[in-house]
Amino acid sequence: PTPFLSVRDLTVDFHTEDGVVHAVDGLSFDVEKGTTLGIVGESGSGKSVTNLTVLGLHNPETTKVGGEILLDGEELIGASRPTMERLRGNKVAMIFQDPLTSLSPYHTIGRQIGEVYRKHTGASRAEARDRAVEMLTRVGIPQPRLRVDDHPHQFSGGMRQRAMIAMALVCDPDLLIADEPTTALDVTVQAQILDLLKALQEETGASIVLITHDLGVVASTAHEVLVMYAGRAVERGTVREVLNEPHHPYTWGLLASMPRLTTPVDVPLRPVRGTPPSMLNVPPGCPFHPRCDYVRLAGPGICQAERPELSPHHGHGDACYLTLAQKREIHP
Ligand code: SF4
Ligand code: MG
Repeated sequence: PTPFLSVRDLTVDFHTEDGVVHAVDGLSFDVEKGTTLGIVGESGSGKSVTNLTVLGLHNPETTKVGGEILLDGEELIGASRPTMERLRGNKVAMIFQDPLTSLSPYHTIGRQIGEVYRKHTGASRAEARDRAVEMLTRVGIPQPRLRVDDHPHQFSGGMRQRAMIAMALVCDPDLLIADEPTTALDVTVQAQILDLLKALQEETGASIVLITHDLGVVASTAHEVLVMYAGRAVERGTVREVLNEPHHPYTWGLLASMPRLTTPVDVPLRPVRGTPPSMLNVPPGCPFHPRCDYVRLAGPGICQAERPELSPHHGHGDACYLTLAQKREIHP
């Protein structure tokens, strides 16, 4: 099938006072209709930048974008503002980590959901209000006819995130980009929101790009996974492939640092040692090499000298010089 979203060799460069930041460098991925791609990485890995670029929300004065972003066959790089505005809402919508930064405190929830609907459909105020009630019902807000007139501060954190989802889905987008949608919520509410996203996907057939630093979120929600490090994809595959048979040393580190229900509380989690590189100064060769325990195993000097490529575009792949046999021995 033709993917709904197809990104090829995406590069995003920011011009800053300190130099050029290669925030995304040669990234390719596909999202099929009705499926969820989880993009995982630490902060600064380029995962949010990638999606702001897809939405055309980057600053064109300071940002240089290269490559291809095809949304349902339509090229987004260099698309005009009116084109992007038409696509945002109707074809692609976004939900953010913190609803309080995206919901206005001054207007009712219903008015805010309704305005998005009116902007894209030209509906009347009364129609927009009915639509807002319908959307609040669909995302599981109790007593939607009353709550539609509440202001955001009258909602709990979980209800605000539901309202954000209602706002994102009000124009039936085909692609939903969710950037850390549950990070600010407690574990129980987090699970409820992820379940809601899955249920809405089954109902609408929308594709979802789920951006998260948490492999646990990906495990319960995504079909495919892309692991990003320093603006590059380092591993890609189905959830089962990447979680059951991870190939890249960085993915091993992420998995080891993931809290498990079976881990006793007094056992410290093992984070990946070291810190992500400054994007102004990405290490040469494999960008992960300063933090990797297997540099010597891969062969003399190779990890420092040449950047391993992720290939091909489909199937389980990773960007690392270790052989499959070596990987299986280290991480059976
Ligand atoms: Fe580690 Fe080398 Fe593989 Fe990079 S290419 S992850 S440095 S072994
Ligand atoms: Mg982010």
